[in-house]
Amino acid sequence: ESKLQLVHRHIRAFPDFPKKGILFRDICPILKDPAALTAVIDLFEEHVKKNHKRVDLIAGLDARGFLFGPLLAQRMGVGFVLIRKKGKLPGATVSVAYDLEYGKAEAEIQADAVSPGQKVLLIDDLLATGGTLYAACELMRQQQAEVLGCMVVIELKELNGIDRVKPHSVFSLVQY
Ligand code: 5GP
Repeated sequence: ESKLQLVHRHIRAFPDFPKKGILFRDICPILKDPAALTAVIDLFEEHVKKNHKRVDLIAGLDARGFLFGPLLAQRMGVGFVLIRKKGKLPGATVSVAYDLEYGKAEAEIQADAVSPGQKVLLIDDLLATGGTLYAACELMRQQQAEVLGCMVVIELKELNGIDRVKPHSVFSLVQY
């Protein structure tokens, strides 16, 4: 079995969660299986080594980006920073508002999280409409950090999130 097949086998789908009509992709079985979790980090690491000479930081998105991001960062020997939902981070912060399917949300980082010119990779569990990763890219732009690209375990292709995040690239392990 390949690493990709192993990852694929540890993603479940729940119909009508969190509301009717949504098919929710659940990554919890990946975390429960050490081999599957190692495979995820291996595949991300292979991608980064092949595509990026220098990476300064990994930035993970609230909340499931926090599950994979620190493992990858530690593997690569770089730091990890948190992009959180508004109101969770202490000290001086910078935030960006973005549209959700219904209503609005705000993504926030600590003002000293990234420095101008730093090369940052963004990580989350899943790309849907791309609104969340778009906001994260916008935060990085405001802080004058360079987004090298985005990485997710799962891409939901029919929602065209890739277009929303352009010109930044999104690397995904599994596509539906
Ligand atoms: P977007 O902003 O791209 O529309 O939504 C992506 C965000 O919503 C991610 O942070 C992701 O964690 C969450 N999300 C949306 N749908 C799903 C899903 O089906 N499964 C999981 N695990 N996360 C989802």
